[in-house]
Amino acid sequence: MYLLTPTLLLLVLSMMIGCSTPATTPKPLSSQEIALEKTIQLQKAFQYQLGQRVRLAEVAYPLLKENLSACGKQTRYTLGLFLHNIEDYPATHKEAIRALLNTNQKIQVLHTLNYSSALVTLKQGDILISANNVPIPEDKPKALKLINSQLQQDPTIIFEIMRGNSEIRTTITASKICNYPVHLSHSNTINGYANGSQITITQGLMRFAKEDSELAFIIAHEMAHNTEQHIPQRLKNSALGALLDMVLLSSGIPSPLISTGIAANLYSQSYEIEADIIGLRLMHRAGYPIKQIDKFWRKMAAVHPATILKGQEISHPTTVERSLFIKKEIDILTATLPKQD
Ligand SMILES: [Zn+2]
Repeated sequence: MYLLTPTLLLLVLSMMIGCSTPATTPKPLSSQEIALEKTIQLQKAFQYQLGQRVRLAEVAYPLLKENLSACGKQTRYTLGLFLHNIEDYPATHKEAIRALLNTNQKIQVLHTLNYSSALVTLKQGDILISANNVPIPEDKPKALKLINSQLQQDPTIIFEIMRGNSEIRTTITASKICNYPVHLSHSNTINGYANGSQITITQGLMRFAKEDSELAFIIAHEMAHNTEQHIPQRLKNSALGALLDMVLLSSGIPSPLISTGIAANLYSQSYEIEADIIGLRLMHRAGYPIKQIDKFWRKMAAVHPATILKGQEISHPTTVERSLFIKKEIDILTATLPKQD
């Protein structure tokens, strides 16, 4: 009988491994082609993120603008501009952004939102030189502080800008809106957050809410948590206040706070129903179509069937209850104000 010695076994194994070597071996990639492709992909990722930020801001605007009466003293002025400089980006991204937008240390216009009074006059790449004749610092937080302090004195600002070699003076009038800034989270979970003073919407939720009216409904729901002061004062702006809300991870990963009971008090089922109903009213007042919004919960149920029978943990109602409650409110709003829908 012939036995494999350890040496022979190793030899056989190495031959077997040798047999699994890929038959197709492309030429090694050059560092130049890797660098070029990396730049292109970083630029595509940047443009995608910018598109998401623009959509979020455009959809949120009517809700924040047309519901001032619901926001009390929580108001601010917005110019409808995204400003940036190269320091906004991590070192790994700077070259790609610089190549795409010619971005440097100076404060530049990244995007002019559709509702901005500067839509026609300001373009991407315009460099801000001064606001009401006060020079704009290159340090972005200081530049934003300067612009905001100018806005508090007068919502109309005369900007001096540089476009190529031309100096241009332009007047922009800011809009008064509710001061609940809406942020984009890069998370791919389907989720939204409210912390009493701000709103966060995940990229995953934005992909799920394909219709702008669906996205508006979620923003309005989170806004209602803030306007109705569902988050206690002591938890505002704290880690505890930044709780998962939609929490549509039907398979798990619940917020650790949800099981503590703190979240149960914060986001109780009655608060959730109220946020849906008040949110729908905010949406209606902002001019969004509401007739089909109850279907949003059906859509959610189809993707996350666990929510049909059991609300998320103890804090959220089922999608069945949410759909039915919202339908009743839709009927009330559309019966009294049929022309606006
Ligand atoms: Zn909620």
